[in-house]
Amino acid sequence: MTTDKINYDVCIIGAGIAGATIAAYLAKQGKNIVIVERNLSERNVIIGELLQPGGVQRLQEMGFESFLDNIDAQPVYGYDMIFEERDYHIPYPNNNGEPSGYGFRNGAFLQNIRKYILAQDNITVIEARVTALIEKDNTVTGVQFLRKQVTDEEIIHADLTIVTDGPMSRFREQLSNPDKKVNGYFLGLLLKNCELPYPNHGHMVMGDHPPFVIYPVTTSAWRILIDFKGEKPPKFGPDFKKFLLETFEKFIPQSARASFVAAVEEGNFKMFPNHRLPAAPIKKAGAVLLGDSLNMRHPLTGGGMTATFADVMNLSENLETVKDFSDGKAVSKAVQKYYDTRHLGTQTTNILADGLYGVVYHPDLRRAFFEYVSRGGKYSEETIAILAGLNRNKKLLKKHFIGLASYGTKKKLQSANIKEMGDTYGMVKEAVRIITPLLLDEKPDMATRLVLKALAKGEAVVSDINFRI
Ligand SMILES: Cc1cc2nc3c(=O)[nH]c(=O)nc-3n(C[C@H](O)[C@H](O)[C@H](O)COP(=O)(O)OP(=O)(O)OC[C@H]3O[C@@H](n4cnc5c(N)ncnc54)[C@H](O)[C@@H]3O)c2cc1C
Repeated sequence: MTTDKINYDVCIIGAGIAGATIAAYLAKQGKNIVIVERNLSERNVIIGELLQPGGVQRLQEMGFESFLDNIDAQPVYGYDMIFEERDYHIPYPNNNGEPSGYGFRNGAFLQNIRKYILAQDNITVIEARVTALIEKDNTVTGVQFLRKQVTDEEIIHADLTIVTDGPMSRFREQLSNPDKKVNGYFLGLLLKNCELPYPNHGHMVMGDHPPFVIYPVTTSAWRILIDFKGEKPPKFGPDFKKFLLETFEKFIPQSARASFVAAVEEGNFKMFPNHRLPAAPIKKAGAVLLGDSLNMRHPLTGGGMTATFADVMNLSENLETVKDFSDGKAVSKAVQKYYDTRHLGTQTTNILADGLYGVVYHPDLRRAFFEYVSRGGKYSEETIAILAGLNRNKKLLKKHFIGLASYGTKKKLQSANIKEMGDTYGMVKEAVRIITPLLLDEKPDMATRLVLKALAKGEAVVSDINFRI
């Protein structure tokens, strides 16, 4: 085992979206950085291919909008919400030149960020797999790693280790109390050379079938992600293609059906688990979690990278206040401030992602959601601004969530059908069941926490929550 004599300010585990971006941003502060990534070649994945306008805004604020250049990234101007036979078009807010979103191949985008960090004098990039965190006196002092085709492990030391080893993180257990759940799988296919009802838009398709989303990722290809609910992935057996065609073809917009059939026949299936992981960090001197290793939400709303960039900025700006990185107390204080405040930048993205995922699986709530946003005006504009990551007002999100359940209730009560009227209680109960744990995960103040807990136990009613909203 060899030991590197250089003592870096920061060691980063993983040059994925979070790790590569924070390396780039901290390098601007003049920090001396080492980043260890197990595979530097371009990845071919179905994750992280739609960057919401809020994420684009964060890139601009960091001075990194050029990461979107020369990768055939497609501007995305809003969504077409498709419900049963109807659809409703919702543009992203475009006041004061707000940015649009972008669709791209994640591998190409990430290689752009990696190209940037490889060119920085104060960033050392090592291709190797990190095998352990090194600790001394209960403080993380660096990492142990193994390069490809080498048998000797090496050690590198740094004042702070940033763990960004992604959704399957090997190190999160040492730095948090994770309560990770798989709530389903996304099957990804590429729809080639086709049109969709709205060019340069996301399409969210809901109905009496598993939901799916479609957005452009290159000039000639759209990504479709189809949800498979449950803890176990579907099997790609001999009947899988037939099942896909029978279950989904009729719900694909007409203009893209032939491409869907071709993609299914081609059979280049990629599948990835969708996790829910509330952030639950524990204090550990010398180390911090960032990105999917710390916190994950459902990818239905494409919010992961937007949340990650918010965290990258928060952590970097707190670390910028530390003049001397060998001052362990000052570094720990900056890390703690990031953990204490990060929810302010990510909570609406998290709550909306898992909240909407719950809504689209409940027949009455998804109808209520579609009809609620189809009312236009603030109902669609404010909802899309939250989904875009441009509006991060939690009160507004709660207002719309309760608003859609109330709207659905009102519509049902107006119905002449007795059964429909009776179902209203079930719908409100389901809305509460969906939103309560999500709100509890995002650091509510003490009084709200008490109301939410009572609500979860059935000891309070929805109107009780209103006084906090
Ligand atoms: C199906 C799906 C679709 C998604 N779609 C979107 C979307 O459209 N828009 C969006 O914003 N978000 C989306 N997300 C979420 C988004 O992909 C993540 O939030 C984001 O990629 C998190 O970045 P990260 O750096 O934490 O992880 P990653 O980008 O996965 O990076 C982790 C890095 O760590 C490296 N690594 C792991 N272990 C080690 C080790 N031991 N040693 C060295 N290196 C290591 C890996 O090789 C990798 O490069 C999606 C997620 C899923 C599951």
